[in-house]
Amino acid sequence: MLEVKDLHVTVEGSEILKGLNLTIGPGEVHALMGPNGAGKSTLSAVIAGKDGYEVTSGSITFEGRDVLEMEIEERAQAGLLLGFQYPVEIPGVKNIYLLKAALNAQRAARGEEEIAAPDFMKLVKEKVSFMKMDTSFLQRAVNEGFSGGEKKRNEILQMLVLQPKLAMLDEIDSGLDIDAMRVVADGVNSLRGDDKGILLVTHYQRLLDYIVPDRVHVLVEGRIAKSGDADLARELESRGYDWVVEDSAA
Ligand code: ADP
Ligand code: MG
Ligand code: MG
Repeated sequence: MLEVKDLHVTVEGSEILKGLNLTIGPGEVHALMGPNGAGKSTLSAVIAGKDGYEVTSGSITFEGRDVLEMEIEERAQAGLLLGFQYPVEIPGVKNIYLLKAALNAQRAARGEEEIAAPDFMKLVKEKVSFMKMDTSFLQRAVNEGFSGGEKKRNEILQMLVLQPKLAMLDEIDSGLDIDAMRVVADGVNSLRGDDKGILLVTHYQRLLDYIVPDRVHVLVEGRIAKSGDADLARELESRGYDWVVEDSAA
């Protein structure tokens, strides 16, 4: 479904990704771990099409399409979605309008009609309730005055409404207490499906007790230094990253 081949990416003149390879198949959840500054966020940002990253060589394909040739909106509409690739706060724009606009843009790209208002309300209310959010969130400006945990829930809410084919979630566990993390993890797990993929960027193993990945990759200095199954995450939890760094240097 997603194929990243020998990707080299430069940010402000320095090479951050140095020949990265990653393949995600339908139905698979991949966790991307690794020390701070390894390039995890850079990878998801480049796949999503954020500005400021220069791909100097390599390729990214999604369902056979050349992702690097697609505009950021085209990528989202193709079902390749990074959590909150929209501005963190949008003053004056109500959450519910952003959700509806994003959903209708996706439908338009597929040649479908706009969703009928009652169907939209039904869908959104169901997802809001699943995320244990109050419906008053929908009427508030996007992320304005939201706590860290509320922003994360809102990020997952957007995913639940849009049902991306490949959801990329960057550090969704940061700053969450254990109850909020369970809700967020339940939300992510409900996105899983035979035809869907998830790329979960996370610094800590804790989240992976709740969202059990099919594959775990360790990104070190711009390359995937080690891959394994969920056990690798547990090994990293007890041993840290240093041994992977040393192994990959050897
Ligand atoms: P991670 O998510 O693994 O912690 P990042 O992808 O955020 O790592 O960052 C990788 C490296 O790229 C870091 O050294 C970081 O300082 C650098 N970097 C990322 N974004 C920028 C930017 N916009 N400008 C300059 N350097 C950046
Ligand atoms: Mg970081
Ligand atoms: Mg990061």
